[in-house]
Amino acid sequence: MSTGRAAPTGKTRICPHCKSTILESASVCPACQHHLRFDPKAIVERRMQPTFSALRVEGAFRHPPHGEAWEYSVVVSVRNDRGEEVARKVVGVGALNANEGRTVTLSVDVFKPPEK
Ligand SMILES: [Zn+2]
Repeated sequence: MSTGRAAPTGKTRICPHCKSTILESASVCPACQHHLRFDPKAIVERRMQPTFSALRVEGAFRHPPHGEAWEYSVVVSVRNDRGEEVARKVVGVGALNANEGRTVTLSVDVFKPPEK
């Protein structure tokens, strides 16, 4: 039985396809959804699978049928138990012309190590 070097929990890497910061244990990039290669010796035994979806929030907004274009920015912030912001990201910005809309979906997946 190999004891291989386990990926430390929470360790990240850069997706070679889209350059997003992702979990080292991810087998599919959550940003661009490309399948990723990884060093099997280093990670295979600790490769985590999506275990459950912690939350999924969806909302839509729409410009009225008339009027000047609007601008918007989509910001996601993550805080720890002490209320300290550990991440804050502008996910997208853009403009809405008359009668245009956007739908924003935020999802959080939680990964647990395989059962022993
Ligand atoms: Zn990617």
